[in-house]
Amino acid sequence: RVKGKWATTRPKHLPTRLALQHFDATYSVQLGQLWPSVRVALLSERKYGALFNNFSNNPDLEKLQAQGCRDFISNGEDPTSSEHNSEFGAEEDSSSVSTVSSHVDSQQQSPLWLSPNIKCLVFPRGDITRFKPARPDKFSLLSYYLMDAASVLPCLALGVQKNHTVLDLCAAPGGKALALLQTQSVRFLCVNDSSVSRTSRLKRVLHSYIPKPLLTDDKLRITSFDGTMWGEIERNSFDRVLVDVPCTTDRHSLMEDDNNIFSRSRVGERRSLPQLQVELLLAGIIAACPGGEILYSTCTLSLNQNQGVVEQAIQLAEENHGIQLQVVSLRPLVKKFRNTFHFAPNLHLGEMVIPHLAANFGPIYLCKLRRLT
Ligand code: SAM
Repeated sequence: RVKGKWATTRPKHLPTRLALQHFDATYSVQLGQLWPSVRVALLSERKYGALFNNFSNNPDLEKLQAQGCRDFISNGEDPTSSEHNSEFGAEEDSSSVSTVSSHVDSQQQSPLWLSPNIKCLVFPRGDITRFKPARPDKFSLLSYYLMDAASVLPCLALGVQKNHTVLDLCAAPGGKALALLQTQSVRFLCVNDSSVSRTSRLKRVLHSYIPKPLLTDDKLRITSFDGTMWGEIERNSFDRVLVDVPCTTDRHSLMEDDNNIFSRSRVGERRSLPQLQVELLLAGIIAACPGGEILYSTCTLSLNQNQGVVEQAIQLAEENHGIQLQVVSLRPLVKKFRNTFHFAPNLHLGEMVIPHLAANFGPIYLCKLRRLT
């Protein structure tokens, strides 16, 4: 029978299969009864969001809205008018900066600013309509960038404010850098990625979405350094640092055998990921100025690559560099966007969007730190 022959010639150790075995073993323990539904969602078609390009001039926004798409950010719940009102402190009023407030160490109240002017359109829960490719306007700028809508959350949570200097340490192919530029608040953006080929792709993305006058050397620097060495380039400099690290990219690892980190030839690389992630986060912490804020993010569910990395980096920052950090609670962000995303319950550090069939975004883990010294 054809099936028998096929079975004997099929590679036994397909990386996607190894990934599923690994996830079944670790995530069934880590996520308990949530794992079966997360597993089904991870193995199903993912859902995209359309990051709207404020610099493009075409009517795609209206067209998408007519199709039932909505901007999940401006349509997020207002935490101050919910039953959770008592958990929020005073809210600052500003036309260009949206704010919600957060508790830190579950005691202190301090505002959690969301980066302004970012719009991301999504189809409603349960609606799996696909977006059409974006079209260029008369200046050849594309109207939207398709990405996992949950990937916008780290950019919102970074809380960029007017005239900030921002470092995006692992920036290619550039979805989050694009979102940061949509804020129109960044005075100077430094985008870096150690991969030269991916940095070239990042440049192409930026030039397809952002007008040339906003990409001049005084506003933007594009580099291809090893991010772990950033401390040798610049210390105590940036108001905001995004550290969106390489990880096991769980969804990709289950779907694509090409370039899969679970292939047998990449076992060493995969095992050393947490170490690389700690070094990158530590470099990001050192690059931020005292009082500056750092956002760590991944697209894996792995405890070792998420909370484990943050804990180690906080400890090393203090022990080796005398830098004290505060974890900024992102609970207000969860409350604001819980109608769009499913969040993992009760994480002791950071927040995580978990895939769900009705809202198949993520996984995205994010944790925000503030430099006290
Ligand atoms: N932030 C990007 C975006 O939104 O499009 C995605 C970043 S991706 C998750 C991680 C990136 O880290 C990859 O592009 C990879 O080339 C880069 N990378 C890996 N090791 C690095 C290092 N040591 N320093 C800087 N970048 C690194």
